[in-house]
This record gives sequence, C-alpha cells and structure tokens, in this order.
Amino acid sequence: MEEDYRQCHNCYNEIEEMICERCRLRQVTSWLQDNNGPWSIQALFFRKLEKKLPRPPYEGYCLICGNELPALCGPCFYQEASFALKEIIENKTWLDSFAKMFKPKHVQLV
Ligand SMILES: [Zn+2]
Ligand SMILES: [Zn+2]
Repeated sequence: MEEDYRQCHNCYNEIEEMICERCRLRQVTSWLQDNNGPWSIQALFFRKLEKKLPRPPYEGYCLICGNELPALCGPCFYQEASFALKEIIENKTWLDSFAKMFKPKHVQLV
C-alpha cells in the first residue's frame, strides 16, 4: 500500500501546512513563555508531547525549518498538545486561551 506523505497519521486528511512537530512545539512553547508559563511546566509539557508524536517516517521539508516532514496535521497536533496541557495545567484561563490561539481539532468541530 502506498502512503501519501501529505497524509496526517491521525485523521488521514491531507496536511495543509507542512510544518513539522518540532516547529509547532516551538510555537506552543513560546506561547507558554508569553503567558508566563513556569519553566517546570514547559519542560514537562515538552516531554509529554514528544512521547505522543509518531516518528515521521519520511525525509522532507518543513516550511519553517526545512527539516523533517510533519506526521500530524495542525488541528491534530494542537489537539494532542491541548490534551497534554490539560494533564499538567489546571488554570482554565490558560486552557481557554490555548484553544483560542491554536484551535485544536475538538474546538474546530464544535
Ligand atoms: Zn489530522
Ligand atoms: Zn520544522
């Protein structure tokens, strides 16, 4: 079976923005910094999220860093990110502003 490298590993839709997980993770981390997230939470969040991501099987080009291709589409990635965030953060204001900023999949569906 041939796999489409543009296909998201989670929802199987076409990935619209070819931005790798590392770059998306960096966006989330800088959002955390802007919102005065403590370093301990940032590190924990980073580790949790990295574990959940499938390893990209392809060599390719991320639009931002020019390295690997993403395995997940944006909405799926941010959904995983928000699940990870919910496990470590209880501040609802943060979670709401994360959802507004990144629009994870479950928010888009509503
Ligand atoms: Zn997806
Ligand atoms: Zn990248």
